Amino acid sequence: MESSLTEDTRLAIKRVFDAQKGNQLSIKLAPINDRKKKLKKLKTAIKASENEIFEALKKDLRKPVFESAVFEVLFIYAEIDFAIKNLSPWASQQTVSSNLLNLMTKCCITYEPKGVCLIIAPWNYPFQLLMSPLVSAIAAGNCCVLKPSELAPATSAVLTKLIQLIFKEDEIAVIEGDSCVSTELLSLPFNHIFFTGSTHVGKIVMEAASKHLSTVTLELGGKSPAIIDEDVDLKKAAEKITWGTFANAGQTCIAPDYVFVHEDQQEKFIDLMKSAIEKKYFNKEQLNKEDYGKIISGNHFKRLKNLFDDALSKAIYPTVLTNVSSDSLIMQEEVFGPVLPVVTYKNITEVINYINANNKPLALYIFSNSNKNVDNILKQTSSGGACINDVMIHISNPHLSFGGINTSGMGGSHGFHGFKAFSHERSVMYQSKLIDISKIIYPPYNGKGMILKLLRKLM
Ligand code: NAD
Repeated sequence: MESSLTEDTRLAIKRVFDAQKGNQLSIKLAPINDRKKKLKKLKTAIKASENEIFEALKKDLRKPVFESAVFEVLFIYAEIDFAIKNLSPWASQQTVSSNLLNLMTKCCITYEPKGVCLIIAPWNYPFQLLMSPLVSAIAAGNCCVLKPSELAPATSAVLTKLIQLIFKEDEIAVIEGDSCVSTELLSLPFNHIFFTGSTHVGKIVMEAASKHLSTVTLELGGKSPAIIDEDVDLKKAAEKITWGTFANAGQTCIAPDYVFVHEDQQEKFIDLMKSAIEKKYFNKEQLNKEDYGKIISGNHFKRLKNLFDDALSKAIYPTVLTNVSSDSLIMQEEVFGPVLPVVTYKNITEVINYINANNKPLALYIFSNSNKNVDNILKQTSSGGACINDVMIHISNPHLSFGGINTSGMGGSHGFHGFKAFSHERSVMYQSKLIDISKIIYPPYNGKGMILKLLRKLM
């Protein structure tokens, strides 16, 4: 494929970056109210472009309008409203207490904008995953360069038009293009890079960021397991897992990637999954394409087909696989498609050991009626987030930090956590003009035995 990094794009990147560097201080110094106004303006502009956005998402991913509305657009309205409502307390100075060595000082933490930030987004929720970090970046008072995914070109074009309509490029600008454009952007000393995408590219981003010691938030992928305890309502679990796995044709970072079910319940669970899939995605044995998205590209289809063929060969309809060996490709890499392997267990310890022997997941799902079993699994495993007796819905609460751990990511997003990602927590101490206690530790030390004794007691 031809690179999208033309000389014009290279020059545009340089021009935008330099302009944002030059403008960054005035954005930082503007009152908090200006940030709220910008967020309101953004919401109004999105509202006015809703139909265009839905059409673009249909073109790129055959996304049903309902899914586009709920997961791409309403999600952003909620994020904007939450930021506007809470921005004043978030951005206010936090006073902290003092100890003996700094008695009489005033100490506080201020949230200052990081400066000029880069946001790189993937294609699976191409609108939401660019806009959500942008809301946090604006709330925190930054300038921003946005790089949408080249694999969702219609959405990328709508995003560009929308941003150009309301922001000048010296504050917020979109640079469209593929990985070559990303590489060029990553060569610049951004103050913060917010990347959403694969673990593989996440490593490339972090390596590039290390050249300038730019801070990073990495929202990555991985295999998110769902564990079904023996005591649950299997029908309810099957219904929820069906939704989580096949929404957006399985192309969701926190989709259940595989399921653990007790060996005695596998048959019943598979039957229930079959009914749930038929009810949700089929109409008289025909796949209901109105409610079932498409695989983003030919290459992604081939990748999935390869995973699928490796385990079994069929077309990529919503599919549940049983008897999958743990060394098959589908149990090694993130599926990110409408295929759900089901693995049986005899004892929950096997499940915990399996999860701990692999990379830490982005999400962990536990279906159980036993608080003791839930606590036991949570205590003995680690994951970016976890959701009990449901899937994916934990992403909808902006009070919760959303993010991964190690290979599934680092840093958090949404609400205050997103605001923090784009802010530097600057510690400031004001020494007392009247009594300066810190002098007691200055040399000469001769004759300061009593002071040392006192410090030993008090510190
Ligand atoms: P990707 O990593 O291939 O691409 C993401 C972005 O990075 C795109 O804008 C792309 O142009 C750019 N890019 C690609 N190669 C690059 C390179 N070599 N150097 C610099 N930039 C490069 O990911 P994708 O296929 O778009 O998205 C799917 C992945 O994203 C899955 O692993 C999924 O789990 C993950 N994801 C994570 C979250 C989350 O919130 N944690 C959300 C959505 C998707």
